[in-house]
Formats: sequence, C-alpha cells, structure tokens
Amino acid sequence: MLVVGAGFAGLYQLDHLRKLGYNVKVFEAGSNIGGVWYWNCYPGARVDSYVPLYQFSSEELWRDWNYSELYPSWEELRAYFRHVDKKLGLSRDIRFNTRVTGAEFDTDRDQWVVQASDGSVTRAHFIVLCTGLSAIPYIPSIAGLKDFRGICHHTGLWPQEGVDFKGKRVGVIGTGASGVQVIQEVYQDAAELTVFQRTPNLALPMRQRKLDDETNRRMKETFPERFHKRAETFGGFDYDSAALEVAGLGVRVNAVAPGPIETGMLNRFTGNAERKAGLVSSVPLGRVGKPDEIANALVFLASDKAAFITGHVLSVDGGKSAGWRADPTVRHSEVKPWNRTS
Ligand SMILES: Cc1cc2nc3c(=O)[nH]c(=O)nc-3n(C[C@H](O)[C@H](O)[C@H](O)COP(=O)(O)OP(=O)(O)OC[C@H]3O[C@@H](n4cnc5c(N)ncnc54)[C@H](O)[C@@H]3O)c2cc1C
Repeated sequence: MLVVGAGFAGLYQLDHLRKLGYNVKVFEAGSNIGGVWYWNCYPGARVDSYVPLYQFSSEELWRDWNYSELYPSWEELRAYFRHVDKKLGLSRDIRFNTRVTGAEFDTDRDQWVVQASDGSVTRAHFIVLCTGLSAIPYIPSIAGLKDFRGICHHTGLWPQEGVDFKGKRVGVIGTGASGVQVIQEVYQDAAELTVFQRTPNLALPMRQRKLDDETNRRMKETFPERFHKRAETFGGFDYDSAALEVAGLGVRVNAVAPGPIETGMLNRFTGNAERKAGLVSSVPLGRVGKPDEIANALVFLASDKAAFITGHVLSVDGGKSAGWRADPTVRHSEVKPWNRTS
C-alpha cells in the first residue's frame, strides 16, 4: 500500500492502514512530516481553527498533548507532529524528499507502477493520494516576475531556514489569510513594507490567548463530545448554525470561534452601506501605509470573497441569536470588546 503525502491525511492513513494489517509506505516530497506545516513556515503562519479542533481525535494522541495557544503557530504544529510521530512511530515508514511524478496501472499484475523524483519505481496494490488541497502553490503570471532581481518567496514554499527582513524594502502581494499573517510579522523587521492588494478581505482580530494547564485540563473533558460533533457538521467544526446564518447575510465564514463578540458588529458590515464604504476607503489598493496601520487594518469590501473571521461571533442579526453558545472551557473575562479604533 502506498500513501502519498505526510500531512494530517497521510499520517492518519499510515496509522489506520497499518492497524488493518497492511504493509504501508508513505512517499513525501518534503523533508519532514506535517504537510502544509512543513511548507508554510513563514513568519506568522498559524491555524485559524481554535483548539482543540485542529488535531487528531484519537485519545492516545490528545491525552498528553497540550497546545499553548488557542490558535497555534506553525512552530507548535510542528511540535505536535513530532509528538504524533513519537507516539505512533510513523517516520520509519516514510520516504522523505520523494515526489511521486507518475503512476500507471499494470493490469497483468494488478499493481500500480509508481515513478518518483529520485528515479525509483515502486509497485503497490493500492495508492492513497493524501496530497492536500494546496500542494501546488499558485504563482500569478505577473509581468516581469522572472526578471525580478530581488529576493522573492512564496508563503507556501517558504525557506526552512527562514528569511531575514531586517532593513529591507518588502512588498507583500495578496491579503488572504497568509498575506494578513505574514504582514503582521514582517513589518516589525522591514525598513519599509508595501502591501499590494487586489481584492480586500475581511480580517477580524483573532483574540489569541494562552492556554494554561488548567484550561487544557478543563477543555479535555469536552473533547470526546466536540470531536464527535466535528464529524457531523458541515464544516468539520463543532458548530453549524452560526456559520450558516452569517453566510446567509453575505459574508462567507472561514472560521468562527465560540464566545461573545460586539453584538451587531457584523450588521455593520452587511447592513450599513455607508459604514461599508468607510471601511473600504480606509485601505486603498496598493497603498504604502504605516506598518501598524496595515497590520491592524480592518479590510473589507462588499463582495462575496472569503472572509476570515477568527474572532468570536454571537449575534449577527441585531438581536435574534445566531444560535451560538459560549465555550464554557475558555475564560472570556480578559477578552476586551473589540472596536475598530483600539
Ligand atoms: C497557513 C495555513 C493555515 C491553515 N489553517 C487551517 C485551519 O485553521 N483549519 C483547517 O481546517 N485547515 C487549515 N489549513 C488547511 C490545511 O491544508 C489542512 O488543515 C490540512 O493540513 C491538510 O492536510 P492534508 O494532509 O490533507 O494535506 P497537506 O497538509 O497539504 O499535506 C499534503 C502533503 O502531500 C505532499 N505531496 C503533494 N504532492 C506530492 C507528490 N506528488 N509526491 C509526494 N508528496 C506529495 C506535500 O508535500 C504535503 O506534505 C491551513 C493551511 C495553511 C497553509
């Protein structure tokens, strides 16, 4: 059995298929496990699904693992994958730096014949492709890109040794989730930061917080129920209705965390045209702005482009509840109400 890819999906398959008694090998293009968390090690890369959802549901793996933040960073994700590897002994069956380049089915022998970038040819009865949803980074056809003589990197192919931005003039192209994350880190070192933005998105404060041992302990009491719920909902989160209601108002939700938010906040985005216009004009396209301003900007355009809502959403309809409940295991007392000027 050959599994391609050593991210969440591939590692799960390796463990699961082994337990079913198969002889399994994994081929992975990168030189370590973690999938997107191997490739996306750019400054600021982090999860926007809150803990505990972003992990395997097997108790063997969560029982003695504690995330330290509600929205873990790529560094912590890598530590998590090392923990999983140690528990399940996965690496011994993974061939790293091996990109599958082709496969043909040999009907005479009922086997796949698989070619890889190292020149090897491997036969397997089954192939399981766990190659993820972002295995091929998108590089837009920007005129002159090939001739650009400066340093140029893609967040999805970030150098493992990191990039030194100190004193440099930096341009970030794109303000999706990765763009927003990288901007907030790079501006601290760069001499100058310019953000090029074609389609503004909506970015709300994620209200990150540290998770101490006691919070982790209390959260774990809810894990079985949450993981069960996760398998039943539309988006694989432990909620359903809030996301759907918000979507109904014209904002597509990427992630919604449990807990309170300023009531009516989303109404301002979805209901009040003047307010919307104000928000749009606050971050013009291609602007060279003060780094702080860009990092903290609320970016919004009345479009159906994906909105990244990583804060807390409660009522989105000015009174009628979105059917959301606060998470009893997370303390909200320290969370200040958010407003645009803070
Ligand atoms: C910055 C960032 C933040 C994210 N945050 C969240 C979040 O908060 N919540 C959420 O649900 N999702 C999030 N995601 C989405 C993420 O893709 C999934 O959560 C998850 O990691 C996907 O796991 P996977 O195993 O399916 O794929 P991947 O993690 O993409 O792993 C696929 C692996 O296959 C390998 N591969 C591909 N092609 C080949 C080949 N031909 N030969 C050999 N190996 C190959 C790749 O090298 C890679 O290691 C985020 C993604 C990014 C980039």
